[in-house]
Amino acid sequence: MRHLLDMTPAALKAELTELGEKRFRAKQILEWIWRKGTVDFKAMTNLSKALRDKLAWQYTVLTASVAAEARSADDVTKLLLEYPDGGQVETVLIPDGDRVTACVSTQVGCAMACAFCASGLDGLGRNLTSGDIVEQVLQLQRQTGRAVTNVVFMGTGEPLANYDATIAAVRALTDKDRGALSARRITVSTVGLPEAIRRLAVEDLPITLAVSLHAPDDTLRAELMPVAARSPLAEVLAAARDFYAARHREVTIEYALLAGVNDSDDCADRLGSLAARLRCNVNLIRYNPTAGLPFDRPDEQTVRRFAERLSRRGVNANIRRSRGGDVQAACGQLRRREQGD
Ligand code: SAH
Repeated sequence: MRHLLDMTPAALKAELTELGEKRFRAKQILEWIWRKGTVDFKAMTNLSKALRDKLAWQYTVLTASVAAEARSADDVTKLLLEYPDGGQVETVLIPDGDRVTACVSTQVGCAMACAFCASGLDGLGRNLTSGDIVEQVLQLQRQTGRAVTNVVFMGTGEPLANYDATIAAVRALTDKDRGALSARRITVSTVGLPEAIRRLAVEDLPITLAVSLHAPDDTLRAELMPVAARSPLAEVLAAARDFYAARHREVTIEYALLAGVNDSDDCADRLGSLAARLRCNVNLIRYNPTAGLPFDRPDEQTVRRFAERLSRRGVNANIRRSRGGDVQAACGQLRRREQGD
């Protein structure tokens, strides 16, 4: 069985031609999948019975099963998907008025080993394919009956460490015959891999780049994010500036506030001076406490104070609304709960 979502439309057309079919059948098949949410070839009634049978024999649209589903009081749906090889990832749907955001994973586990993050606790399992990534959007739409309008690559894994699949997934989501989303509605979040950020800048995809800083200096950052030992802040920020120069899209800086670790006035001021030199928006994330990890979230007053100090330096700072807490919708936590950790 082949994963149809891993194929480009050109490859699908070529295979249909080999089966003696007209190329426009590809468009019909993609329409069933992406517009009508039909993943069963047998139900694709504008195709001949013979073609439907052939397709059902050779391809599958969805490969993962839903191993667990959780819905929070504030309407966040989280799915734990299991791929045929047993690899599990989380994917989350976050409705907010007209905006319906899917948060997708790019790897099973993660190699980055950030000290505060649940996703990296067991290391990297494997890279997801582009089909595995976009399938998450289709699965969320099926389970909730809602149409995804925005996609953030902020689930498990480091998107830019799985570069080709991430780009192919963005292209599928923005292709008019497939996801049909504007690239402006897509955000790719990274620990900050300078070389990959520069590659991304010349892809001709007007997506938003989000960079996880979490600390205003290399010493603290290296304690929280081992990747910082390889890529100093100065290099990460220089790459982010290059991204802005190439794309003219403001970069998002992510900063998870950890009580007593990176939430001091001094941290705010130093983050402020870094951020003031980059066209960016700072997203302050209230840390989601994770069982077994020695970090906590600061109180509301500290969070507001941190944001105000950034604003005073002319930095555009937002405090990200924290949702889905009652279903452990944050950050690799459902997978761990299901595994009994
Ligand atoms: N590998 C990418 C995507 C990770 S998830 C990256 O590092 O950007 C998206 C964001 O959530 C990252 O900024 C990550 O550091 C942060 N994060 C991870 N665990 C968290 C937690 N428990 N609470 C709050 N933010 C967390």
